[in-house]
Amino acid sequence: MLNSINPATGETIATHEELTAAEIEAKLARAAETFDAWRTTPVAGRAALLERIAEAFEAGKDRLARMASEEMGKTFKSAIAEVEKCAAGFRHYAQEGPAMLAVRRFDLGGGKAAEGHWLPLGPVLAVMPWNFPYWQVVRFAAPTILAGNVGLLKHASSVQGCAALIEEMIVAAGAPAGLFQNLAITSSKVEALIDDPRIAAVTLTGSEGAGMAVAEAAGRNLKKVVLELGGSDPFIVMPSADLDLAARTAVAARIQNTGQSCICAKRMIVHADIYDAFMERFAAGMKAVKAGDPFAEDSDMGPLSSEAQRRTVLDQLDMAKAKGARLLFGGEALPGKGAYMSAGVLVDVPLDDAFAHEEIFGPVAMVFKVADLDAAIACANDVPFGLGSSIWTTDRAEQDRFVRDIEAGMVAVNQMLASAPPAPFGGVKRSGHGRELSAHGLHEFMNLKTVML
Ligand code: NAP
Repeated sequence: MLNSINPATGETIATHEELTAAEIEAKLARAAETFDAWRTTPVAGRAALLERIAEAFEAGKDRLARMASEEMGKTFKSAIAEVEKCAAGFRHYAQEGPAMLAVRRFDLGGGKAAEGHWLPLGPVLAVMPWNFPYWQVVRFAAPTILAGNVGLLKHASSVQGCAALIEEMIVAAGAPAGLFQNLAITSSKVEALIDDPRIAAVTLTGSEGAGMAVAEAAGRNLKKVVLELGGSDPFIVMPSADLDLAARTAVAARIQNTGQSCICAKRMIVHADIYDAFMERFAAGMKAVKAGDPFAEDSDMGPLSSEAQRRTVLDQLDMAKAKGARLLFGGEALPGKGAYMSAGVLVDVPLDDAFAHEEIFGPVAMVFKVADLDAAIACANDVPFGLGSSIWTTDRAEQDRFVRDIEAGMVAVNQMLASAPPAPFGGVKRSGHGRELSAHGLHEFMNLKTVML
């Protein structure tokens, strides 16, 4: 049984029956069958379907957003924005995708040439997290459909209502049965699915632990895998930065989605010369953050996604304090119903302690003071993760150093990092491998077939 529990109230909204072994088998068989037909469907037809799915998401916007707010606590306004982004994601691949599949030509010399043809691989399994319950899935679903592959979704147990709605939208748009199927299953069933010869490849967005389990199973089966894992992104502020804008953006980047985004700015790394001036602004902004009812217009953030998620963050903070870190303010459970907590700021985190290298998936920022550019880069890289980063400096030479030397898949210059359909998204180190979005995301699960002419 998979339970949807509203983290704002603690009430169970719905219970979803797990699929039986026979039902899983039927869905796998249907996926394989549908792939046989879908792989030869002209690209224009695939693109037209994506356009209709975008329209279905737009038409169902309120219903979709309400479900996300109820199942995982994000503010309704941010859930609306997420659904709109999904529509834009489908449209991006509908409009720009066909050109990404154009035949490539390679000159072999001596009057000879070869061509590269982009062909689909087969059914792709996606294991997805609850934090952006639609957008994470769309990042996989839109390119999968355009590529001529078919998709099977194992969504997080806590957002099965959102998972069912995604399937409903895609079917309502006219997708053939079996093109995109939701599997209501727990994670214990994932390994057997990866072992199944009908599954061609797997993509996972989630924690390191889940990433290791999925990568191991994929490795044993020699199947392609894309991993989008955790992050502890640095947000570096240098003396030339616009401090008002940097501090305002740092607050937004830390508390978005109640701090539960893989690319939240989690470690503020601030040059000593402007540390006090930045902290005055940043602390004021963090103190002003309002945690409250996800449906209230003035809530900056809702509850954490579950009571268990709040417990994890509070335990991390207790551990940090035991190791000598100082919680300047906030980072506390709010009294009453719901998994609410206040935004907080943590300083004096001992750099040599294991805690400094952890991801805090909640609205609490770690702040570090550094003496110079080299120290900022060393501090930024002193974590096992390498997902995103944000750098604040108007000095061109400093920007070039950061862009070259920060160990991350993405760098945002004087702005908050955000995913965008035309730009590749992904990380290095323990943040995973492979890319989503853009042509790179589309090509991850395709066979670039070389044709010698
Ligand atoms: P999670 O516990 O790893 O869950 C993610 C998905 O993996 C869920 O569907 C989960 O199923 C499944 N899963 C868990 N353990 C598994 C296993 N051993 N084998 C197969 N599947 C397994 O992660 P989360 O707590 O939902 O999400 C938070 C993490 O995701 C954070 O670390 C965050 O940074 C990361 N994240 C990364 C990105 C990115 O793009 N890089 C984006 C968003 C989030 P159940 O729900 O049934 O357990």
